[in-house]
Amino acid sequence: MSERKTVAVIGAGIFGLSMAIALKDRGYEVTVFDRSQYDANGYDPAADDVQAASVDHNKIFRASYGKKVHYQHLAFESCEAWVSEDEKHGSGLFVNSGMLRVQPSEHLGALEKETLANMQRDGLRDTQFVKGDPADCERADKLGWKDKILNFEIPDSSGKSYEAVLDSTAGFIRCSLACAHYQKVAVDKGIKFYFGPQGAVTSLIKTTSSLEPGKEKITGLETESGLIHHADSVIVAAGSFSTQILPDLSYHLESSAGSLAIFKIEKSDTELWNKYSPERFPVMTWKSMPRDLSGKDTGSIYVLPRTPEGLIKIGYRGIKWTNFKPAPQGTPFTQDGQWSVPLPVDECSVIPEPAIYAIKQFVSIFLPEFDGTPFFSTKLCWYTDSLDNSFVIDHVPDYAEGSVFVCTGGSGHGAKFLPILGEHAADIFQNGDQTSSFMRKFWRWRPDVARRNGLEEGPGGPRDISHR
Ligand SMILES: Cc1cc2nc3c(=O)[nH]c(=O)nc-3n(C[C@H](O)[C@H](O)[C@H](O)COP(=O)(O)OP(=O)(O)OC[C@H]3O[C@@H](n4cnc5c(N)ncnc54)[C@H](O)[C@@H]3O)c2cc1C
Repeated sequence: MSERKTVAVIGAGIFGLSMAIALKDRGYEVTVFDRSQYDANGYDPAADDVQAASVDHNKIFRASYGKKVHYQHLAFESCEAWVSEDEKHGSGLFVNSGMLRVQPSEHLGALEKETLANMQRDGLRDTQFVKGDPADCERADKLGWKDKILNFEIPDSSGKSYEAVLDSTAGFIRCSLACAHYQKVAVDKGIKFYFGPQGAVTSLIKTTSSLEPGKEKITGLETESGLIHHADSVIVAAGSFSTQILPDLSYHLESSAGSLAIFKIEKSDTELWNKYSPERFPVMTWKSMPRDLSGKDTGSIYVLPRTPEGLIKIGYRGIKWTNFKPAPQGTPFTQDGQWSVPLPVDECSVIPEPAIYAIKQFVSIFLPEFDGTPFFSTKLCWYTDSLDNSFVIDHVPDYAEGSVFVCTGGSGHGAKFLPILGEHAADIFQNGDQTSSFMRKFWRWRPDVARRNGLEEGPGGPRDISHR
């Protein structure tokens, strides 16, 4: 589709980096713009000026996707790429700690049964170990995974324990380390970066197209420092800020916040240090029943093994918070004239009470040593949710000459695909419907799809953070 040669990528997070590298490999001249000073802060999650989902200690790697086997296949493709990159560079970006999917009760849940059936069909059932299945436990023992099939008692149940499934293909990505690694790969390949005020895009430059009368095309961008940069194509990969750069995305995406809480273990506390190390402790996810006995939401929580700095991160995704603000005039899609956008970075260090409540409940059952311990830190981390949880990776049809392409909509599960996402995206960029990527139909521009996934709620709904 596109024979363009110069490309400007907005956003040096996982989506932007991955796509920039893949396009460079295909012969494009690529320049990347990001408003964060990643050249100075090295993607440090503690840096003040950073607001990006990709900049984090760790994110879960899993290939278990229930019915969505296309993502299962994509995840295994990505896993191979992580392993190969780590072998080449000794970088330790992917940690195969395993992941324990703790069930809501002493039985397997419906989604779990579906996931296991898909794994069976793909010949991967041997990689999964069901706690309540003696044959699985024996196999886990032989393969060295048994100690990660942890046993947790169900509160007030007279000794019953939660069913759980250990996924030995899963683990986590050292996210910030991975971004810093791939940014260096990009620089070594000759990709040019602008960071800080020089990289902070304030507007896209538009003109009318002579080739497609009646349509506008984008010819470049302007940044906060006054820099004007022209390119044959502009790629918007600005995560939860993408709608603000390109309001045409307003129907397709919504920014919402996940709640993170962190505990810190001192190295001198050898017992805890060892217990929660990735060698001994798996990633754990728990989707409890939606409400506890008092009617509060306690479900959908995960925890990752401690980092080398001793940080244990717990994430609550039971409620993804929205922050509705008046949308600029002319925004194609709004709800009561509003849209949800990220809060300013200095308002993101406090998480709402229901999230704190749910995390504390989780801690009391699954991390008993931390029951009553104050959090080391808390943070709101912004998702870019699409209407159906699939990414949005396509040319924007309203603009002429394929001049704008979007690569975003990570919907809370994009980090794991860093090494291969760009290859798929670049192929779609070049070949459109003729692409060889099996993800094409899931990632296409899709105004025909209904707004679901919570995006239909709008302001004033139960997720609206201003009500908390
Ligand atoms: C709480 C939470 C938990 C998650 N957990 C997982 C998980 O366990 N596993 C997993 O695989 N994925 C997970 N994800 C999803 C994953 O983190 C995202 O899909 C991925 O990081 C998105 O990358 P991105 O590049 O699209 O966006 P970002 O990482 O947000 O990057 C966007 C970049 O654009 C830049 N930018 C913004 N505005 C401008 C501007 N005007 N000019 C220039 N630059 C700009 C920002 O500075 C930023 O660097 C999670 C996400 C969240 C929020």
